[in-house]
Amino acid sequence: MKLQQQIATCKECSLQFSRNRAVTSRGSTTAFILILGEAPGKREAQTGKPFTGPAGKLLDKWLVYLELGLNDYMISNIVKCHPPDNATPTSEQRMACLIYTYLQIKYLQPPIVWPLGSVAQEGVRIIKRTWPELTFKLVKSKHPAYYLHKGFGHEYILEEELSKIRRIIDGERNNLRNTNRCLEEYH
Ligand code: SF4
Repeated sequence: MKLQQQIATCKECSLQFSRNRAVTSRGSTTAFILILGEAPGKREAQTGKPFTGPAGKLLDKWLVYLELGLNDYMISNIVKCHPPDNATPTSEQRMACLIYTYLQIKYLQPPIVWPLGSVAQEGVRIIKRTWPELTFKLVKSKHPAYYLHKGFGHEYILEEELSKIRRIIDGERNNLRNTNRCLEEYH
């Protein structure tokens, strides 16, 4: 079964009972950067696309600031189903879902992975430890929702962190296209 179907029909954790639908990703399968949040919100569970709410708007600003085009990125979450009341996913839910992010990285082979916030960062750390054969550069920042909760507006650019990320992207931009992807396994 293809990855998107596996995720859509997954019964590996308790979120299967409350989900509207699983949310796999949005973006390009030829992306060179995979961006990972924590879990889909209610709105994302309705649209089936990650980061379509207020935090997504802010993330989109950051992507424009980094001069990333639609073909340059893929966006997903470390947990693919919406936790009721926007609760932080439990460690059981995170661990059960980790295999899917591993498979996303394996199939897409993004040269750069960018986890947003501590839950996604911990997930990527575990993936790196469990599957050391995966090679990608890691860039990190806080989750855009963090800045919205702190009262920053939808225009807020975290210049210092984004400048570091931009240096890594620019330094590798010419080597970032990868032809060994297993895209037939993804869809
Ligand atoms: S959150 Fe992940 S592991 Fe849990 S049911 Fe959804 S896809 Fe499966």
